[in-house]
Amino acid sequence: MQEGCVFCKIIHKEIPSKVEHEDEMCMAFHDINPRAKVHLLVIPKKHVATMKDAEESDEPTMGRMLMTAKKLAEKFKLADYRLLISVGEKGGQEVFHVHLHLMSAPE
Ligand code: 5GP
Ligand code: ZN
Repeated sequence: MQEGCVFCKIIHKEIPSKVEHEDEMCMAFHDINPRAKVHLLVIPKKHVATMKDAEESDEPTMGRMLMTAKKLAEKFKLADYRLLISVGEKGGQEVFHVHLHLMSAPE
């Protein structure tokens, strides 16, 4: 739990979110400001600020996040979709807790 981190607060249910998936490694919930018909965020339960900070030991969690996104895409019956991770300020990252965007393809 990183002090002041919005996504850590979501994990600890201190901030409400519309949760779609939760397991021991990761969690997925709806983006508060959706930029696609379906826009979910998949995050590690461990606070990792950016992909630059990910360690070898985080590999199983990162794999779980990708497979969770794939399963959620199936659940939402998305034929095609986008998976995106913004890395660092210049990479467009606004929340510094790693998150994988799952966005449905434009209609
Ligand atoms: P980034 O720009 O860092 O890749 O994406 C951050 C995303 O987090 C944005 O799409 C933004 O809408 C979302 N977001 C920021 N704060 C919250 C929040 O409190 N709850 C939820 N559900 N999403 C949030
Ligand atoms: Zn965090």
